[in-house]
Amino acid sequence: MARTLFEKIIAREVPANIVFEDDSVCAFRDINPQAPTHILIVPKKPIPRLGEAKAEDQSVLGHLLLQAAEVAARAGLDKTGYRLVINHGPDAGESVPHLHVHILGGRHMKWPPG
Ligand code: AMP
Repeated sequence: MARTLFEKIIAREVPANIVFEDDSVCAFRDINPQAPTHILIVPKKPIPRLGEAKAEDQSVLGHLLLQAAEVAARAGLDKTGYRLVINHGPDAGESVPHLHVHILGGRHMKWPPG
C-alpha cells in the first residue's frame, strides 16, 4: 500500500513543523490552520481512519488522546480551552487517509460546527 503523507512527514521526507514526537505518535502544525493554534497529532502506525482501528489499537488510541491533551497544554491552551476533531469519511471532510486528531485553539469555537 502507498505510504501516506503523514508517514512521509514522520519520516522527515516531507517538511513539517513537528512540535512533539515519541515512539508511537507525532504532532505537527497544520499547513492550513483553521485557528491561531492548529496542530495535528497522528499515530505512527498508519491506521487509515478511526472506524478502521482494531481492538489491538486500543493502547495507541488512548495514548494519542493523552498526548493530544499534553500537546494542547504545552501550546498554552489548557486554561482557555481547545477543541479536538477527528474527521471520518467524506461527509466529515476527511482528506488524508491516516488517522489524525486536530487540536484547535486560540479563539472561541462555535457550536454546532460547520
Ligand atoms: P482532514 O481534512 O481531517 O483529513 O485533515 C487533514 C489536514 O491535513 C488538513 O487540515 C490539512 O490542512 C492538513 N495538511 C495537509 N497537508 C499537510 C502538510 N504537508 N503538513 C501539515 N498539514 C497538512
